[in-house]
Amino acid sequence: MAIATVNPATGETLKTFDALNAGEIEDHLVRADQAFQDHRTTSFGYRKERMLAAADLLEADQDGIARTMTTEMGKPLAQARAEAAKCAKTMRWYAEHAEALLADEHPDPADVSDSGAIRAVVRYRPLGPVLAVMPWNFPLWQVVRFAAPALMAGNTGLLKHASNVPQTALYLEELFRRAGFPEGCFQTLLIGSGAVEDILRDPRVVAATLTGSEPAGRAVASTAGDEVKKTVLELGGSDPFIVLPSADLDKAVRVGVTARVQNNGQSCIAAKRFLVHQDVYDAFAERFTDRMAGLTVGDPMDEDTDIGPLSSEQGRSDLEELVDDAVHQGATALCGGRRPPEHGAGWFYEPTVLSGITPGMRIHHEEAFGPVATLYRVADLDEAVRLANDSPFGLGSNAWTRDPEEQRRLARDVQAGGVFFNGMTASHPGIPFGGVKRSGYGRELSGHGIREFCNMTTLWYG
Ligand code: NAP
Repeated sequence: MAIATVNPATGETLKTFDALNAGEIEDHLVRADQAFQDHRTTSFGYRKERMLAAADLLEADQDGIARTMTTEMGKPLAQARAEAAKCAKTMRWYAEHAEALLADEHPDPADVSDSGAIRAVVRYRPLGPVLAVMPWNFPLWQVVRFAAPALMAGNTGLLKHASNVPQTALYLEELFRRAGFPEGCFQTLLIGSGAVEDILRDPRVVAATLTGSEPAGRAVASTAGDEVKKTVLELGGSDPFIVLPSADLDKAVRVGVTARVQNNGQSCIAAKRFLVHQDVYDAFAERFTDRMAGLTVGDPMDEDTDIGPLSSEQGRSDLEELVDDAVHQGATALCGGRRPPEHGAGWFYEPTVLSGITPGMRIHHEEAFGPVATLYRVADLDEAVRLANDSPFGLGSNAWTRDPEEQRRLARDVQAGGVFFNGMTASHPGIPFGGVKRSGYGRELSGHGIREFCNMTTLWYG
């Protein structure tokens, strides 16, 4: 894939970039390693000052970087601005909390005296240069949720961003440099995916985090496994959105639509499969379809647009194939199911609601990465849980019920990294984020995220 900015609203190539050559990659690795030797010894206060400066700079740049993101991958401008704001908030959160999150732990002397120790201490030390392989869908956020904790922990970062968001990738390197992080602390590598393996095998790179598709995750984790290096994988999702009779139906419909079409439907934790109890199915389906059909598809720079284009031509044809396969096998498109005729060259797709999904259809098991919702009528809670878990993925999930017993069952039985009740599934700096099954492993955000790339060191004093 060429490293280039191609506007998905028009299909026009705006700027192309040369990939780094072998010598340039080596220079970056040298800098990352050298920077780590200093950065690991700096105080939390030193890192905090710079992280807060980065947050301030990002806020000042908010409109400009939002326009760059929208130009590169097509998300509605207001959502791009909100993404930048969330990144600044997360930088501040880690700036303020990192020291406490990584504070020494002191096991009870009674628990360690058997070992002959007078005392023992658990210390979270940084690991070294970490490679971050990142996707285009939240081009700032995916990177910042890695970079803010990594830099605050004393690691250095090497970013291999998706090939279609090079300007956002370069902005991030520049942002941390402007904020005062020394040369080499955070670098962008303009490289194709084929260059990742050699970099990950380099002894100076100690770990990797990847957010993206399952094939990419498998490739990076295989290499890392072969090298015995730590990985965190944040992969795809096909989150269930369960609606039970006690739900506030108006709110569930409203949030359900936002949860499905946010980011033009290209979010790993978008609600994708709507599992609705038979007692409220007809009312939910009608209101949900009306709202989906009423959304405005168009130029993502236009403030009135709800849904912009998909990020690539390939992304749109992948989505089309999933919908066509379902319809050919008997699913009904309650709305959408095609490209909007009036949007010529861009990679637009109409908001779509499909009912009558059966297990033989690809969309039952595969991730629909675009504004396509599937509706299922379920007889009871048991069927909702069974269908929720009938997926290779286990990232987030969403449940609408005010019944405490139903909440207890769902909290116990849904196979996912998160169960959100009566509100939208979303990531927040203070709570862990990640998945199970084919959605990956490890956690980002919160104290759990910052500790993923630390050497939990035992200090034993005799
Ligand atoms: P992708 O094709 O897997 O790309 C993600 C990153 O991996 C890009 O930088 C890509 O580089 C690189 N890559 C691809 N193949 C690789 C390989 N064999 N070896 C090394 N690197 C490789 O995914 P995408 O289409 O950009 O993103 C969509 C997917 O990401 C969806 O499945 C979505 O659910 C998932 N996602 C998950 C989360 C989460 O937190 N769990 C968040 C957001 C997105 P190139 O661009 O150069 O190919």
